Amino acid sequence: MTEPELTQPEAEPKERVAHSFRSLRELVDHVSGKNLPPLSSEDGRVTEQLPFPFLGIVGQQEMKLALLLGLINPNVGGILLIGPRGTAKTTAVRSLLDLLPMVERSTCPYGCLPEDIETSGINAVCPDCAKKFAEGTPLTAPDKVRLIELPLNARLEDVVGGIDERAAIHERMRIRRGILAQADLNLLYIDEINLLGDDIIDSILDAAAQGSYTVRRGPIAATYRSRFVLIGSMNPEEGRLRPQILDRFGLRVIVRGLNDASQRLEAYRRVQAYLANPRQMVNQFAAEMEAAADEIRSAREQIKKVVVPDAVANPAIALVQKMKIDSLRAEITWFESARAYAAADGRNEVTNDDLKVVAPMALRLRRSVFMNDYFKGQVGEEKELSVLLNGFGNKRSKKKSRI
Ligand SMILES: [Zn+2]
Repeated sequence: MTEPELTQPEAEPKERVAHSFRSLRELVDHVSGKNLPPLSSEDGRVTEQLPFPFLGIVGQQEMKLALLLGLINPNVGGILLIGPRGTAKTTAVRSLLDLLPMVERSTCPYGCLPEDIETSGINAVCPDCAKKFAEGTPLTAPDKVRLIELPLNARLEDVVGGIDERAAIHERMRIRRGILAQADLNLLYIDEINLLGDDIIDSILDAAAQGSYTVRRGPIAATYRSRFVLIGSMNPEEGRLRPQILDRFGLRVIVRGLNDASQRLEAYRRVQAYLANPRQMVNQFAAEMEAAADEIRSAREQIKKVVVPDAVANPAIALVQKMKIDSLRAEITWFESARAYAAADGRNEVTNDDLKVVAPMALRLRRSVFMNDYFKGQVGEEKELSVLLNGFGNKRSKKKSRI
């Protein structure tokens, strides 16, 4: 393939690229504003499937930041992208593919892990893995985090798994792994999450919250790990999301169309360049994408050391209370995303500034108008009850003392 006008990633030393930015955020900001050199489209229309480069998305800083924080710290507890069509939500999620870090994953189609043997004995794994374990062969290998997309027409059985009629030799093999089990240690993306059936959405949210789930089919039961980062997107024009579901998402990003005319033009040019020659477009950002992937890798190590000092945490909790947010998920998400942000910046302590940057995505859409009204309406009855109870206690004790 001839790409005469390209800056090849190999041409620049990787080290320099990786360290020319102080933080991941700076890198994202810088690359988003980068001007593309003129493109050659001689050998365009490549048939291979290449995701649009994440760093090539114009604007949408908050969406990009939220997705990166989710990659750095799965404890942010899921990301919800809310906005109209055509605002690059799905493009952004798919473009994460090139940034995904590595994890240690089971090499077996049934997901057997050495932990299974440690906790429940050798029969907890399939015969193949039992053999491997006895021979001292590892049951896991390093693998890239993957992006699992939930198909819109998925049935509950596809999501949690079902009976496998063909393979019935071993307990472990009786139940076919569902999408949730495949999503373990991966990202699970649900487009148009507001259109999904309640039973499916509940099973996904429960599995995400617990990190595992159990499938029962008659006498057979199987428990699967499901430690994944959930990314949902929705267009509010097409239907609401139940408030209790909304609350279970850690970060919520409102994705609007680009306001700035020059940004819109740049976005158009990039999409056009991508459609004309995806490979060339991807190469334009290859060096920065590699630098960003490196940053994410080191931030995932760094985050283990990052703490939220009391002096920073206490005023933050006061703010959450001032906003009349009941859900504890508010501060959990807020602190966890701030830790990821500090880690991406190479620091071990969360500051007020970190909290400020991530606060809108952690705290917006958390207040329940319904619950506030409900509690207000309840005040009268509570007072009445407390007056009655006071009288009730006094009378009883007086009577008793007379006897
Ligand atoms: Zn196995």
